[in-house]
Amino acid sequence: AVAAAPSVLDGLDPDQRQAAAHADGPLLVLAGPGTGKTRTLVHAIAHRVAELGVPADQCLAVTFTRRAAGELAERLEALLGERAVGILATTFHGLGLTIVREQHARLARGAHVQVADDAVRAELLDAALHGEGDARQQRRIAAGIADLKRQRALGAARRDHELLGVLARYDAALRDRDMVDLDDLIVLPLTLLRDAPDLVERYRARFRHVWVDEYQDTDELQYRLLSLLCPPTANLAVIGDPDQAIYSFRGADVGFFLRFEQDYPGARTAALTRGYRSTPTIVRAALDAIAPASLVPGRTLTAVRGHAGDGPVLLRRHRGETEEAIAVVDSIDAALGGTSFHALDVGVDGSVDAGLSFADIAVLYRTTRQAEPIMEALATRGFPFQRRSHLPLADAPAVAFLLALLRAPTAGPVGPRPVSSLVRDAAGRAGALADAIGTELGASSLLTEPGAFPDGGLIPAGRVPSEAELRLAVELLMPAAASAGTDLNTFLTTVTMASEVDGYDPRADRVSLLTLHASKGLEFGLVFLIGCEDGLLPLRFGAARPKAGADDGAAANPTTAANPDVAANPDVAANPDVAVAAEAARAAEAEERRLFFVGITRARDRLILSSAARRPGRGADAEIRPSPFLADIDASLLSTEPTPQTDAPRRRNRRESVGQQLRLV
Ligand code: ATP
Ligand code: MG
Repeated sequence: AVAAAPSVLDGLDPDQRQAAAHADGPLLVLAGPGTGKTRTLVHAIAHRVAELGVPADQCLAVTFTRRAAGELAERLEALLGERAVGILATTFHGLGLTIVREQHARLARGAHVQVADDAVRAELLDAALHGEGDARQQRRIAAGIADLKRQRALGAARRDHELLGVLARYDAALRDRDMVDLDDLIVLPLTLLRDAPDLVERYRARFRHVWVDEYQDTDELQYRLLSLLCPPTANLAVIGDPDQAIYSFRGADVGFFLRFEQDYPGARTAALTRGYRSTPTIVRAALDAIAPASLVPGRTLTAVRGHAGDGPVLLRRHRGETEEAIAVVDSIDAALGGTSFHALDVGVDGSVDAGLSFADIAVLYRTTRQAEPIMEALATRGFPFQRRSHLPLADAPAVAFLLALLRAPTAGPVGPRPVSSLVRDAAGRAGALADAIGTELGASSLLTEPGAFPDGGLIPAGRVPSEAELRLAVELLMPAAASAGTDLNTFLTTVTMASEVDGYDPRADRVSLLTLHASKGLEFGLVFLIGCEDGLLPLRFGAARPKAGADDGAAANPTTAANPDVAANPDVAANPDVAVAAEAARAAEAEERRLFFVGITRARDRLILSSAARRPGRGADAEIRPSPFLADIDASLLSTEPTPQTDAPRRRNRRESVGQQLRLV
């Protein structure tokens, strides 16, 4: 027999290979977490470009986050080198921006049209409202006009004259500044293409090969844009997992996934059933957890990893969130310094990864504010971390304090110095200040008026942060400080504008702190899923004191006020309103369960599920119960062994420890 020529498809298993080799017409890949969907997508594109001669610039790959898009681009470049140039790997918003920039004249925008960030939006909205209303009302109106804009594009807008007026003024102001907002990135291309058949033809001819990852979280506007670009016979491959649909609060609709075969009647379907990512135990725990609400009945997902190094999912119960945070940090310490992890770190092909690094570790949580105790504990221990958040960095009080110190004029001349060392200096001054005030004023460290440092320079008003808060602030500011070099002004503007999401670097050697929503598509050797509690998973509105705008907006979503008891109410059948409410509650709880499923399946080797009996804002009387979802995981997969010993001597040479005896993480 003649040996087949090597192909980029060689890195795939037979099912993946068949899906990736599919070249003509629509394709649906429906498969569970860790089965290699994203890997298949990458190899499919590489195959088409490198082996089927498809021009790179005819390939469009759309995924859910900018981070995921960046990773696609990177993996394509690794496989294709120079030949990857021209492939458009992006998000729906990125695709929209491409179209908006190319068609700027038709959209009454300039060639350098910019996307307005939250600060600009707030400013324009304030102007459109003529400065009326408090912050809360403005947020409500902002949501209202965004909704109106989207509904209008779908041809279903309410005739709310007041809101329409505000929207018109706001849109005009955006145009004046040569800007668009995030919604415009989908709405403008959609409305433009809908009325311009010539343009539709051009874009169809350009993007002849289209892939969409995480298709289960497509919303209606994105779906319609995609439908315009891809007629029923297009080379469109959609990839996803209905059980990982977690963005319905933002309008995503798994229904588009489920009806793909009706929209694209000639579609082939492919199922991938081998789970490459997680240990057999983690896979089984995940399947148990999703079973009561699975949208893919009878799904097969078999872990291909052997049992070597497999261990139970750890279940931990803590008194409070501080104890929970300390246990997380202790475990990280043990995992990095001890022997426990390396025995687990065996790849599918039997290769042994010689070391666990911070980058292999993630702490996942349901609501943004759960990150705070974790960050403090990590900062205290000196462990580097990064967090994805949509809140401006400068909102953290200790960060604001340091920035104020950096802005304040100082006595002596300052030559060019690295911003990172200026930040550390400021933290030192703030720390000394806190000490001084501590002795002068007793325990109080509240300054009501700006003062002056003995060596010159103003002291900002406000509470002087604690040492732990300062350490945390320094940690949060370091990535921006490092990239600013000696340019303090650039640093101050970037940090003031930036939300941390921009600073998240998947390759940085830092512990990742992520909401469950943000963890989608990622994987880590060691995963802590904290706050596995009734009220957080599933989230009940009010239970977790979520801040408005926190948690990707999910926490503020009233439909997550799931109440399973309603379903058991005998009045349900008689009263349609109650029935509707019960259905909404069931749907919301199912989505919470899918979030839990997504979280579990981020773990490759080791998963730790923890809960706290008390949490701030939850009242002091009753113990918080563990998440009801935990009860669905077969007890044989779990270990509730008491908290680890962490006092064993640290082992510095990680290679040495491979294969040595397991110690509990
Ligand atoms: P998710 O649903 O979480 O997005 P996914 O189906 O997209 O998961 P991938 O991220 O593509 O899964 O793959 C999961 C892991 O398994 C990755 O580390 C990937 O490299 C590995 N993997 C996938 N397929 C194979 C294979 N055929 N051989 C070796 N490793 C593989
Ligand atoms: Mg994926």
